[in-house]
Amino acid sequence: MKSANASERRQGIETVCVHAGVEPEPTTGAIMTPIFQTSTYVQSAPGEHKGYDYSRGGNPTRTALELALAALERAKHGISFASGLAAVHAIAQLLNPGDHVLVCDDVYGGTGRLFRRLFAKYGIDFEFVDMRRPADLKSQFRPATKLVWIETPTNPLLRIVDIRAVADLARAHGALTVVDNTFASPIFQQPLELGADIVLHSTTKYIGGHSDLVGGALMTSDNELAEQLRFIQFAGGAVNAPQECFILLRSIKTLALRMQRHHENACLVSDALSKQTAFSEVIFPGLESHPQYALARAQMSGYAGMVSVRLKGNFDDVKRFVSRLQVFSLAESLGGVESLVNHPETMTHASVPPEHRKRIGIDSSLLRFSVGIESAQDLIDDVVQALG
Ligand SMILES: *Cc1c(COP(=O)(O)O)cnc(C)c1O
Repeated sequence: MKSANASERRQGIETVCVHAGVEPEPTTGAIMTPIFQTSTYVQSAPGEHKGYDYSRGGNPTRTALELALAALERAKHGISFASGLAAVHAIAQLLNPGDHVLVCDDVYGGTGRLFRRLFAKYGIDFEFVDMRRPADLKSQFRPATKLVWIETPTNPLLRIVDIRAVADLARAHGALTVVDNTFASPIFQQPLELGADIVLHSTTKYIGGHSDLVGGALMTSDNELAEQLRFIQFAGGAVNAPQECFILLRSIKTLALRMQRHHENACLVSDALSKQTAFSEVIFPGLESHPQYALARAQMSGYAGMVSVRLKGNFDDVKRFVSRLQVFSLAESLGGVESLVNHPETMTHASVPPEHRKRIGIDSSLLRFSVGIESAQDLIDDVVQALG
């Protein structure tokens, strides 16, 4: 007899990655979800259809993806968007004039730009604060605070925010907590279990994993929030195309495998870089030298593949170093199988106001590596030869 416990034990994340959302296609038995390349669906009588009436509202390939996305974060609902920023945009549209939002100060550049340059004009007050000490955050809440926006690890400084502590504070003040979980991936960090209300991903990054598409996702277990967010998406139209949904479904199957390798490589690379005197600082949450190593260890089950460094010297030295790299490509974005290097000040974070950049510590010496799944030794050798 099967014990009750065995049937209640939830599936391992590797199994979820391979199977979630995917049922054999009913008419042919095709094991892979087809690309339903259609905008509309024939109805048998006015208003009588099989659950789909127009592809902005729903498409079977997207439905399969959304079930898989929800399963990855152990959420009741997953909503797939045209880009990560379209998902950020949908959450911002939950807000009303007069609302106050606490945003972690080292937030993704595009998220800050959307809040500062697009939504501030609707009378929403976005306040960018250091969230590393939740005790100090308490006094920042106001009666109008409706949302707390966490990114952890942050981009590009890889700071860690205590999700449970901040989400507890937010709930006590009647505010929702959003966690942008793009950098950790659902494999290494599960914010909903730590008390967050909504998890966001740029699926362009680790979930897509091959630098071949742009996409975003929201996951929540709150039925009412899910309904509001779905309405915002349906009304605004920021859906991804069936082909993109199919590619993402395929990517998700190897997500756990890829993340394990990103993590292992980043541990090896960050360790090797720490021994190079050319870098004044190597930032990686899995290094014991990281000021929040203990919190990262407690909150994450792996550290993913992002490593930031400060190179000694001036901007010319930085330019010389990146031009000599051969395995790492100089490009924005992250999370793909191939290794990339990015200079935040002039690339991903160029839109962040200079005084804000200076305050949080993004200067010309800072470089951010996205460590891919190549041979770790080749990556280390590449950095060493580029240092010359
Ligand atoms: C890339 C990124 C986004 C934005 O996603 P897009 O898919 O580029 O629109 C948001 N948050 C983080 C942490 C990101 O890295």
